[in-house]
Amino acid sequence: MMSDDLRGVVERMVREALEGQLRSHGDRSVPINISARHMHVRQDHLETLFGAGATLTKLRDLMQTGEFAANETVAVVGRNRRVFEQVRILGPVRKATQVELSYTDGRYLGMDLPARVSGNIAGTHPVILIGPKGVVQLQEGVIRALRHIHIGDDDASRIGVRNGQMVSVRTAGPLGVTFDQVLIRASRTALREMHIDTDEANAAGLGAGAAGEILL
Ligand SMILES: [Zn+2]
Repeated sequence: MMSDDLRGVVERMVREALEGQLRSHGDRSVPINISARHMHVRQDHLETLFGAGATLTKLRDLMQTGEFAANETVAVVGRNRRVFEQVRILGPVRKATQVELSYTDGRYLGMDLPARVSGNIAGTHPVILIGPKGVVQLQEGVIRALRHIHIGDDDASRIGVRNGQMVSVRTAGPLGVTFDQVLIRASRTALREMHIDTDEANAAGLGAGAAGEILL
């Protein structure tokens, strides 16, 4: 059993080695990570759910620097009273609470989910969140995250893409697909990584270690 700290170090080393390979080849391949249902939380909601003064505690680091899966989970309840009992919170805390589900998850909870860029939650479905210490009735904030690629500014300019651009990404394998309308989200410190949800991954037969090629 590796400690979480050690696992974090190993993951970072592997990631940097992969990044180095990508750079040396100058190609447009992109690792694909699959986002299971999860949520982001703002501080006051966190304290309603987990008690006054609550903070998120780290389960493991995610690929993007500073982002992590928290130990804390919340029950997400639809108006049809169906429940996902343990939806993991991803940290750090944000300005707005947001639940990210696959389209199939949304159907289960009786919601026709819009595909939105993270953070754009205006007019989206309400939902009830239940933590060990309290309940939050979220007026809006459930989305299906628009598939996207995180990439550093330098990396983006080197391979000829820019923030906000839509690209296509081709995957290999017996169920290979080409994803169109993949949003480029470039920022100074981001590492090259594509995020899709479990519906998209299952449709394309993708699992751990998946990768694709950016088509321009
Ligand atoms: Zn992402």
